[in-house]
Amino acid sequence: MSLSRIYLSPPHMSGNEQKYIQDAFDTNWVAPLGPNVDEFEKEIINYLGASEAIAVSSGTAAIHLALSLLGVSKGDKVFCSSLTFVASANPIIYQGAEPVFIDSEPETWNMSPQALERALREAYLERNLPKAVIVVNLYGQVAKMDEIVSLCTEYGVPMIEDAAESLGSTYKGRPSGTFGEFGIFSFNGNKIITTSGGGALISENAEAIKRARFLATQARDPAQHYQHSVTGYNYRLSNILAGIGRAQLQVLEERVEARRKIFKRYYQELVHLPGVTFMPELENTRSNRWLTTLTINKGQSGVSAKELIEMFNKNNIEARHVWKPLHLQPIFLNTRYYSHSKGEHVAEQLFETGICLPSGSNLLEDEQNKVISCLKHTIQSMSKQGVE
Ligand SMILES: *Cc1c(COP(=O)(O)O)cnc(C)c1O
Repeated sequence: MSLSRIYLSPPHMSGNEQKYIQDAFDTNWVAPLGPNVDEFEKEIINYLGASEAIAVSSGTAAIHLALSLLGVSKGDKVFCSSLTFVASANPIIYQGAEPVFIDSEPETWNMSPQALERALREAYLERNLPKAVIVVNLYGQVAKMDEIVSLCTEYGVPMIEDAAESLGSTYKGRPSGTFGEFGIFSFNGNKIITTSGGGALISENAEAIKRARFLATQARDPAQHYQHSVTGYNYRLSNILAGIGRAQLQVLEERVEARRKIFKRYYQELVHLPGVTFMPELENTRSNRWLTTLTINKGQSGVSAKELIEMFNKNNIEARHVWKPLHLQPIFLNTRYYSHSKGEHVAEQLFETGICLPSGSNLLEDEQNKVISCLKHTIQSMSKQGVE
């Protein structure tokens, strides 16, 4: 048995990163701006077929900038997917605004259009529409964009697409991240491509991205001295890290292919086990399958998600729970939340039963075999016990 730990989604370098880092050193562009940053932004725009992009220090920073650009401030409401990483909603709090959480639906695990519709209608009747809706694409799966975009348009509320996990995914042929007023990406160490830490904000609105550049560099007024009329941030991406991003972006398609292949392998090997259901892929979409995720029905498999994760851990395999819904988080205890339907809480169900399997694009075949045999072995022995 191998002693080295199998990780969920470790970084996967292409080998070209050092060249761009060396360029930065050779030209002494060791700063939060420079040629790698400019080129990285152009390359992101090119890849997405988008108009404007600003590279920033994290995905969280990109969400914060988007909210700031939309004028979200104290007392405002912002709707946000509940089943997500806390980073999706923290910037709402930074702005002094109030989050309202929207449940998932079972087909994509993402924001439920029918819950969103209820929430928007109620807010409209209360004459208190949200300033923005943050829609998350979980684990690479794009949300039901046609329905969500049409609802946001109907109520005149701008949408921010949190595509931190879905770079390289498409919905009806269109790249994830390009559906909202703003799209955001993350290049954190665990994402499909990484700069070690970093992010990007995308928009069709050139004025807004110009303003984002201003806000992201401490909002310095045009004057000879240092002068500031509004509060800005220090959110630009380093020229060294942007160099890593340039080399990573070149292999993005390969990374998507590799993750999809790993998903397919898990699927073929495990789909027939009792109580195992994989996250579906919506018709006419391509998920980057950032993480392979599945739910486990203890009644059928004899084992819970929690027990499976413990079993993996004992075998030196990193598997994780699906995100704990934000409306259940201690920091958001008294926050408003709209369920998928009356009595149907999809995100809570997914949290209870979901697990994420090791899915890195550099996951070796032997390592995949180990994950597969661990899961098979556990369920086969536990489900038999249940039958006896
Ligand atoms: C990773 C992630 C973020 C935050 O990105 P950082 O670059 O880590 O700040 C935001 N939303 C989701 C859904 C994420 O997975």
